[in-house]
Amino acid sequence: MFGLFKNRNVDIKNRNNKIVLAYGALENGLKVVENHWSVGNHKQGNEYLELIFEAALQNFLADPQECPEVVRQAQFEGLKILIAFLQRHGKQGHLNKLIKKIPQCVKSFEPVQLQYLMHAINVTMESLQSTQGIFEHRLVYYICQRCGKLNLISTAPCVHCGFAATTERTYRRALLLSSQILQTPILLELASGLQMGHHTTPHKSIDEVWTYGNIDQVARERTQSSDDSLKLLLQFSINSAESFAGVPNLSIKCSKCERSQNIATHDPVQHCLSCNNQIPTPYFRRLKATLNEALDVITYYADHREDVAYANFISVFVLIMDYALRRDKAPTRAQGRDLIDRFIFISPLSYYSEHLEVRIEDDHAVGFLLPNCSLSEDIREMFERHVMTLNCLFEMLTSKELQT
Ligand SMILES: [Zn+2]
Ligand SMILES: [Zn+2]
Repeated sequence: MFGLFKNRNVDIKNRNNKIVLAYGALENGLKVVENHWSVGNHKQGNEYLELIFEAALQNFLADPQECPEVVRQAQFEGLKILIAFLQRHGKQGHLNKLIKKIPQCVKSFEPVQLQYLMHAINVTMESLQSTQGIFEHRLVYYICQRCGKLNLISTAPCVHCGFAATTERTYRRALLLSSQILQTPILLELASGLQMGHHTTPHKSIDEVWTYGNIDQVARERTQSSDDSLKLLLQFSINSAESFAGVPNLSIKCSKCERSQNIATHDPVQHCLSCNNQIPTPYFRRLKATLNEALDVITYYADHREDVAYANFISVFVLIMDYALRRDKAPTRAQGRDLIDRFIFISPLSYYSEHLEVRIEDDHAVGFLLPNCSLSEDIREMFERHVMTLNCLFEMLTSKELQT
């Protein structure tokens, strides 16, 4: 008997075990709180909730990055349960406390977990239920309302331009411009309109690119039922607005003449455009540039589809790119494989209003001119470069440089 207690104490001292234990005890603990309340013991119930809440803050928000997967999962699930409980009982004060703490963990949680967490807080929109049949994919991505690039997280600054929604109006727009509400073809059309318009002076705004009525009115209608959760999410966004680390560095400097140039994604050995000096490009930096370029090519030129497989493909692409650019984390070989398999699944993918298509054969992208193709030589050449970009991406995603 004594031995058992001793072991238990040793275990409890272990931080990881403490986290798992806190998670294991959470649901029963919250039931006890509810039982107290239901029989009028408000004081005891409240006191007990304070204990549970403090333990949750300590355990579920502690450094998840250094923890093994199972512990991180316990933290994440624990937070989800706690948030649902606090919402059910209208514990706004506790939720606000959580909101202040969670942004400190934004970088250490996996983006996909964070995404779920946001949704747990969000209890998102009725539109989620009404569109669930169409949008079966789990990952949600967002179009930056300033630069049009695809992002995984709506409450963090855009990884490409640093835009963060800090007003109710811009946050409603952020929610609207997501794969949770809009269909993939519309989103990608808006994305390419904004991205191309970002190179003009002055930049094209979302108001100019959006052609579906008054955008703020639509945003308000589509996000109406999330008024409470919207305040929470907006607070996240405001808190993290300062955390932009600068535009991703997708250029490289010549060691001889010190000029910078864009990373040439097609060639592992590139030469300085000024002095012809050979510039070695580290593998991961070239992968980042290639991911970015390949997604641009798909966003601008592919004929976008409404089916779930296509939406999932885009989501996973955004996930991998967001990891790489926001967290400097290369995809694993399994993630690379998964993206290629999704590409195979949606292939052939047509381009330029069904004039051209890309098929995947033996993990290799092959471009075809369709019988009705009447495109100019210039566009055909550009298309060949696009196919090269995709092949370059596939090659890098199956490279031995990636971790298993
Ligand atoms: Zn942006
Ligand atoms: Zn040079």
